[in-house]
Amino acid sequence: MEDARVPVADKAITAAGGSSSSASTSASASARSRSGSSAPTAGASGPPPPPPPAGPQPPHPPAATNTPTPSHTHTPAAPTTPTSSAGGSNANANGSLPLPLRHGHELPFVAPSSYLRPKQISRTMSDKSASPLDKDQMQGLRGVREFLKVRTSYDVLPLSFRLVVLDIDLLIKKSLNILIQNGIVSAPLWDSRNSTFAGLLTSTDYINVIQYYCQFPHDLNQVDQFRLSSLRDIERAIGVLPLETVSVHPMRPLYEACRRMLKTRARRIPLVDIDGETGRETVVSVITQYRILKFIAVNNEQHTMLLKKPVRDLGLGTYKNLATTTMNSSVLDVIHLMVKYNISAVPVVDQDYRLLNVFEAVDVIPCIRGGAYDELSSTVGEALSRRAEDFGGIYTCGEDDRLDSIFDTIRKSRVHRLIVIDDDCRLRGIISLSDILKHVLLFGEEDDTIRGGSGSLR
Ligand code: AMP
Repeated sequence: MEDARVPVADKAITAAGGSSSSASTSASASARSRSGSSAPTAGASGPPPPPPPAGPQPPHPPAATNTPTPSHTHTPAAPTTPTSSAGGSNANANGSLPLPLRHGHELPFVAPSSYLRPKQISRTMSDKSASPLDKDQMQGLRGVREFLKVRTSYDVLPLSFRLVVLDIDLLIKKSLNILIQNGIVSAPLWDSRNSTFAGLLTSTDYINVIQYYCQFPHDLNQVDQFRLSSLRDIERAIGVLPLETVSVHPMRPLYEACRRMLKTRARRIPLVDIDGETGRETVVSVITQYRILKFIAVNNEQHTMLLKKPVRDLGLGTYKNLATTTMNSSVLDVIHLMVKYNISAVPVVDQDYRLLNVFEAVDVIPCIRGGAYDELSSTVGEALSRRAEDFGGIYTCGEDDRLDSIFDTIRKSRVHRLIVIDDDCRLRGIISLSDILKHVLLFGEEDDTIRGGSGSLR
């Protein structure tokens, strides 16, 4: 069997999750990086991967599965997980660097790198007083880290997928419709004049446009005519720092993509290759925190099953200064909260602080469909009712739930965050995928320079 994945640098189409009905559910949050018209490709010149080792190969990660929520999670809405990938494409149609084709379920191994050199043992790891639970936890985390070091970003991609790439000459309001029609929440941008990757379009961009609209309400006609190429000017006009270009080469270790994501606080990162013939950039795909954690959960159960410490003991997630909203608040108010807190989701609670739903950055997209910015004054409840029928639901857990069971949920469901609640369904905290990824990569490590990274969320 040959892998149908190929670099795609032109228009194509992806399928992904949608959004929901009024009272309960969640969709993917997003992140973005943008380059100018000629984007340098980070990490594009990695060493060629060695041939796959002899002997049995690890199983290939399947595409996202659609399975029911395990018992420890509570799903207020009917959770039918959407299918995550579809379609296929022609092998090396654009003549880019040949990516190793895989037979059956074989995976290429990346060259052993400095990642694999023994590191200084951290205090946490060498703590003689550690309980068996702590030791198992560290063993599980180390196992997952080693796994990430011998897999590449390319390995995370499903065998078959479609990719929507948008030309930067497209009107912003048209890009909204394309995302909605294709059920996706982000897309790589392409500068066809220079044939270069031009960044990643995400809900953050639309939030920036909304902020621009709020700051310059009399410029509505101009806002209507903005093209994707104007996004940088919009950032400048509203005083948002231009985002660092973030991309990784598909054949670099997955660990590297994870570190880069944590450092830049990007929730998704484009895989950019260089075309062997033309020397030009080629966008292969985009990997997300969601897909990486799913990959770990599906392929690394022997290690994730060791992560038996409860959320409470790990301090996993955020429990203080939570940004919340109500069903009657305006969408615009929630957007301002997301910008102020630099977050991608705001729990919706009632007067008793009971969880009703979660408003996500991606919920903004249907609100401004076709450039209808006046709908931003509608309520959160109205906005949530615009979610797609097949929206996957929101996922909750308690503080006593363990990390291994969270990985079980990730394995089986389309989880983008977990809302921590108590027995009365009162909001306690929020565990984002970045919290989990950070824990998996950094807990017990001396080198925690990327803890609390300062970049803006993308
Ligand atoms: P996210 O926006 O989901 O990627 O989360 C980024 C960081 O902000 C994580 O550490 C979350 O725990 C935290 N966070 C997410 N949502 C909220 C919220 N509504 N209020 C406070 N912190 C949050």
